[in-house]
Amino acid sequence: MDKFEKAMQQIAQMTEEDRMKMIESKKKLCICGECSTYNDCARENKELLYCALGKSPTCITDENGCICRSCPLIEQMGLEHEYFCTRDSERGQRGI
Ligand code: SF4
Ligand code: SF4
Repeated sequence: MDKFEKAMQQIAQMTEEDRMKMIESKKKLCICGECSTYNDCARENKELLYCALGKSPTCITDENGCICRSCPLIEQMGLEHEYFCTRDSERGQRGI
């Protein structure tokens, strides 16, 4: 089991309230707002944390570079993918 799978296991054991608090705290670390792929629509809708919450529902369709590899969550959560806003969450891209 790798780092990401262990983190998923821990999150699955959390209460819904704790999970929501964790999502809000991780959103503060998300650097998508500084990325050239991120756009006004995503900003207006306060979209962040695509790696966990899944791709942008309607705002982002074009890929113009991804800075996820510079985000602290990559190391913290053991993420292996990028372009979460257009391609899906880490779980989705892993197919789990
Ligand atoms: S890995 Fe990417 S999508 Fe996830 S929090 Fe960091 S910048 Fe945002
Ligand atoms: S997921 Fe990657 S490509 Fe998409 S906005 Fe965040 S940093 Fe940019």
